[in-house]
Amino acid sequence: MTLIASRVDSDIERLISQLQQLIRVPSVSAKKQLTLTKCAELVSKIMSDCGITSELLKLDDTLDRNSEQVSPIVYGEVKSKSNPNGRTILFYNHYDVQPAEPIELWHDDPFSGKIDGNFICGRGASDDKGELITRIKAVEYFLKETGDVPCNVKFLVEGEEEIGSSHLEQYLTKYRNKFSCDGIIWEFGYVDEHERPIISLGMKGLLCVEVHAKCANVDLHSSLAALVENPAWRLVHALKTIRDENGKINIKNWNSDIRDFTPEELECIRQEEFDISSFKKNYGLDHVFNEDDLQEAKKANVGGVTSNISGLFSGYIGEGSKTVLPSTAMAKLDFRLVPDMMPQKQFQLLREHLDNNDFQDIQLKFVSGEPACRIPIDDNFVKLVEASAREEYGQVVKSVSSAGTGPMWYFNNILRCPCVSIGCTFKYSRIHSPNEFVRIDLLKKTTKCMGNIIEKFGNTAANN
Ligand SMILES: [Zn+2]
Repeated sequence: MTLIASRVDSDIERLISQLQQLIRVPSVSAKKQLTLTKCAELVSKIMSDCGITSELLKLDDTLDRNSEQVSPIVYGEVKSKSNPNGRTILFYNHYDVQPAEPIELWHDDPFSGKIDGNFICGRGASDDKGELITRIKAVEYFLKETGDVPCNVKFLVEGEEEIGSSHLEQYLTKYRNKFSCDGIIWEFGYVDEHERPIISLGMKGLLCVEVHAKCANVDLHSSLAALVENPAWRLVHALKTIRDENGKINIKNWNSDIRDFTPEELECIRQEEFDISSFKKNYGLDHVFNEDDLQEAKKANVGGVTSNISGLFSGYIGEGSKTVLPSTAMAKLDFRLVPDMMPQKQFQLLREHLDNNDFQDIQLKFVSGEPACRIPIDDNFVKLVEASAREEYGQVVKSVSSAGTGPMWYFNNILRCPCVSIGCTFKYSRIHSPNEFVRIDLLKKTTKCMGNIIEKFGNTAANN
């Protein structure tokens, strides 16, 4: 049991009230609200009140003058007095939140932080203000209990996570020395319906593109379809060559850079639970890819590539009919990438694929790209986090990667150390949806778990 366990229980009211303060400052990054900076200042103040040295970091003053708003990063640090040359842990979190809309579906004001029994409700209650507070308080409790922290601790709390962490790479590069560390605890971590924390060791990458087809220089009368090609058909034909009906991508060399799963990773995937029939029932599906081969389906979920059409537009889509032959057609595509694919290279392969299939006229636009990251399952830091979680939760679940995308690659690549996801977010806590909540019992357990991690990390030799 961690040194701080009893303080977590006796001080829980203060943790809750500080979390409520955070929820009450709406920090919706999508709306570029002024309250974003106010929220950053509040995070910094809470850190200072908890004994953590804190400051706001900016990217570039000239950017501010040019009115391009870049949210500040809140940086926090506590050096261990007894172990200053020991290891350093970095907590990555974010203070921005998703928009609360549709407001009418909330039972209460989304920014009230209202308590209802074991639940604290509000936008950001779990994602990510709840996660953040468990980490700040774990550090505070060590300082109060022992006057010191077992290992050096750093915080990086950004304000643009919910809009794609667009300046994080620049921040990490600029402040690389300040952020230097030996292990990173990722911003989120789920707890499943059996009360087991899910330790997740990776994130998929992402390539987002636009595909444009253009034929005539203006929209035409559709009788001219006897003579003139339709860009929507042109686009459909081009898209059809990219992926087959079973989801397999048909672009030459697309999978060349994929890193194979290790035997340990395959075993971890085998042990993960996935109930295909309840998944189908939940989403009203009568078929999912690879449903006859459970292991293949699970492998695809955590480590498979995808090609998804996220938007299609051309012609007239209003009421009734309009016999128009449109002049343009456009599709938005996203491709999930896995280690070690690089977005720019995959984009080039897509371009070559279209050219080689006589679609040189189709225009491609690179919208955004992020590489994937996967931390080796036998890394010592992974083992330490697992042991720490086991002490609080009993059982834990390990997952080789989340199916989603996040900026883990930048941390891993720039700071050169492992990242592990572990946290307090109940799987069904409605993050990004109306009536988001966090469970108070999980806030307590997770704060204790963070205490275990800090303690064990302090006990590891720096050269280990
Ligand atoms: Zn989120």
